[in-house]
Amino acid sequence: MLTSEQAKKNQEKYGFNELVEGKKKSVLQLFLEQFKDFLVVILIIAAVVSGFLGDAESAIVIFVVITINAILGTVQTMKAEQSLNSLKQLSAPEAKVIRDGNLMLIPSREVTVGDEVVIEAGDCIPADGALISCASLKVDESALTGESLSVEKSLEEVTEGAALGDQTNRVFSGSFATYGRASYEVTAIGMETEVGKIAKLLKTTSEKRTPLQINLDDFGKKLSIIIMIFCGILFGINVFRGGSAVDAFLFAVALAVAAIPEALSSIVTIVLSFGTQKMAKEHAIIRKLQAVEGLGSVSVICSDKTGTLTQNKMTAEDYYVDEQRIPVSELDMSKGNQEFLLHCSILCNDSTNTDGQELGDPTETALINLGSTFGYEALKVRDSYPRKAEIPFDSDRKLMSTAHFIAGQYVMVVKGAVDVLLGRMDSIRCGDTVREISAADIEKIEKQNEEFSRDGLRVLAFAYKIIDHERELTLQDEDGLTFLGLISMMDPPREESKAAVSECIKAGIKPIMITGDHKVTAAAIAKRIGILKEESEACEGAVIENMSDEELKEFVPGISVYARVSPEHKIRIVRAWQDKGNIVAMTGDGVNDAPALRQADIGVAMGITGSEVSKDAAAMVLTDDNFATIIKAVENGRNIYQNIKNSIQFLLSGNFGAILAVLYASIAGLPVPFAPVHLLFINLLTDSLPAIALGLEPHTSDVMQKKPRPMNESILTKNYLFSIGIEGLSVGIMTMAAFLIGYRGGNTVLASTMAFGTLCMGRLVHGFNCKSAEPVIFTKRFFNNIYLIGAFLIGLVLITGVLVIPGLQVLFKVQTLKIGQLLIVYGLALLNLPVIQFMKWVRNYGIKSRDN
Ligand code: ATP
Repeated sequence: MLTSEQAKKNQEKYGFNELVEGKKKSVLQLFLEQFKDFLVVILIIAAVVSGFLGDAESAIVIFVVITINAILGTVQTMKAEQSLNSLKQLSAPEAKVIRDGNLMLIPSREVTVGDEVVIEAGDCIPADGALISCASLKVDESALTGESLSVEKSLEEVTEGAALGDQTNRVFSGSFATYGRASYEVTAIGMETEVGKIAKLLKTTSEKRTPLQINLDDFGKKLSIIIMIFCGILFGINVFRGGSAVDAFLFAVALAVAAIPEALSSIVTIVLSFGTQKMAKEHAIIRKLQAVEGLGSVSVICSDKTGTLTQNKMTAEDYYVDEQRIPVSELDMSKGNQEFLLHCSILCNDSTNTDGQELGDPTETALINLGSTFGYEALKVRDSYPRKAEIPFDSDRKLMSTAHFIAGQYVMVVKGAVDVLLGRMDSIRCGDTVREISAADIEKIEKQNEEFSRDGLRVLAFAYKIIDHERELTLQDEDGLTFLGLISMMDPPREESKAAVSECIKAGIKPIMITGDHKVTAAAIAKRIGILKEESEACEGAVIENMSDEELKEFVPGISVYARVSPEHKIRIVRAWQDKGNIVAMTGDGVNDAPALRQADIGVAMGITGSEVSKDAAAMVLTDDNFATIIKAVENGRNIYQNIKNSIQFLLSGNFGAILAVLYASIAGLPVPFAPVHLLFINLLTDSLPAIALGLEPHTSDVMQKKPRPMNESILTKNYLFSIGIEGLSVGIMTMAAFLIGYRGGNTVLASTMAFGTLCMGRLVHGFNCKSAEPVIFTKRFFNNIYLIGAFLIGLVLITGVLVIPGLQVLFKVQTLKIGQLLIVYGLALLNLPVIQFMKWVRNYGIKSRDN
């Protein structure tokens, strides 16, 4: 054990307990990466060549535009990375250590050599070390040894130099406790641990692309090919018409750069990373980016009861002892069995409440808090009757046992679920006597349990057994017990649960409660918060045990509450729903929940009460353990997806508009409507800000009125592509109208200036159209995105600057517009707003009247 002082010194000496990740990319590297796009490289070469052939201005401007674009790209990537890193830190693992004699929770990276670490089932082992104490500890070391069975640990010495898997008196970082409890002294941290040595050999894995990114990349590739063919043809036509080959080539490449949507996938990353930041503030930490998209499609949410739907602030309500129900306010500790039950509830208990800091399972905390109100402090009681042996609690057995010397006898105390314990009793304690338990006794206890449960109370039964001499306990000892009493506890539903459940149902998502608790208790709580309507919707986990997968698939839709569920049942329930084509979110907190969390599409772990292993397996961690937070996360997921969609619609429709204009000009035999630098200016400068701003559009709760989006639905639905098409058409028509107006006197430069101005401005205006699929023009929503307004204003200043500042006009190949011409440009660009808003209105009106 260390003092805080020593721990600090050791930290300075050994550094942090962390695996050093592969070298981070420097800002310069990130910046240079922005140029690695094949087309950009070609463009630079083409610009340099045209520069040598006499067009130095174009070369310089293209270079400047590309550099500014690269700076923008670098800043965005850095921001996205920073936000992902800070997310990672939020979900960083924690460890329990004893310092200055106190048990405390610290970030695992602060564990240092010499620390005494306490571990129990569900904890990740934070560093390598040698066991000091061990109570049936089992550890999963598969990450290190490949052995999938848990290894049993003990204090027994092992031969020196034994293989890692055989060092049973030591534990290693990178593994996790699956059962039991232990403490150990840390001997190695960070890169000096066994896993650290392996980590040196491993390369860091890069973040996987999300399904949406894969979908978009695929689409982007196909589109690129079409655009390149188009640009190739255009190049041929321009040369054929007698233009300079270098100019034609430069134009073709610029058009390709402008039209090929290579930014789609990075828009997704940027919007997702900003979205996850918002979600973190609302208590949902995303560990896997894919989860954000998945959240939008979730159609079933399987939630734990305790702590997620309820407050997990347990308070003991009643005793049932000596065949009487006694409210805790009326307890009398001078009565032997009442005091004995209180002692048992403190001894067979791992929670602590030193100096008001509660650590441990709330069920157990409720019991020691009750002791404190009667002046029975847990530490003192435990000092008087030290624990000699134990079988830890696990949610499969639903029991916990400890052994102590009490009044000169070696006594095993057992606590657990009533139905489990009742089957293991052969006697009952009443007053000072112990007699054989009768069927009538059992019936009475069951009736009492039922009564408690109907009130939504959680019930624990207590029993004991005298063992003839001090020894370790075995599972067989948990039979032939003497019944002592019951303690009921209140765990009220969270205030927000009811509203969250109703919102969830409105959003087309089925909420399901899956709990280890008693069926009647679970059903009572579920009814109160609206998850269950009829009693028949509740069942016990055992019911599904003998069902085939096919039968289960037919069975699950009728059930809203599963009680007394084991972790294996959870996996089967998730799978059955998935087989029915659903996207399932599932919460879990225990060590055995990890497989179910991985099986679910969105595994959700509990940040406060969850085991480290469950957090590691989850895609999302709730920092407030609250069901309502999942619903909020679904809303965010749906909104983020919608925003990404809008942002992509903005980019694609704008690009399409530009292509249509060029296409029209070449078919109509008109001169090329833009200089390469125009297209680059728009695509690389004035377009990216509105695209990102649309990704940050304020969220609306409308998304929760709709059904979940089918997961396999491609983002590029027919409707969506149609919108892109007609909106692009509008942008293209306005642009060509400006070109034709400017070209009336045969002035190509004027025509091109007006087309460029209209396209650039038109796309900026079009940003507002892309806020929503519905018309927003006369709503408050029109002005609610300050980023979009900011992006619009920046773009407006830039393009107006280019159009009116004389020096820039030369560089950007534009000519001074007369005030009237400038107004035409502004007017045509602005026209995109009413025209497209009107089209949206017509389509929405059409859909509504069709649906009615
Ligand atoms: P949920 O799955 O909703 O979180 P839960 O907390 O009731 O519900 P478990 O922790 O698996 O689920 O508990 C299952 C049962 O085991 C409880 O209903 C209770 O009867 C019993 N139990 C819970 N905690 C303990 C404990 N610390 N010691 C002994 N028995 C316990």
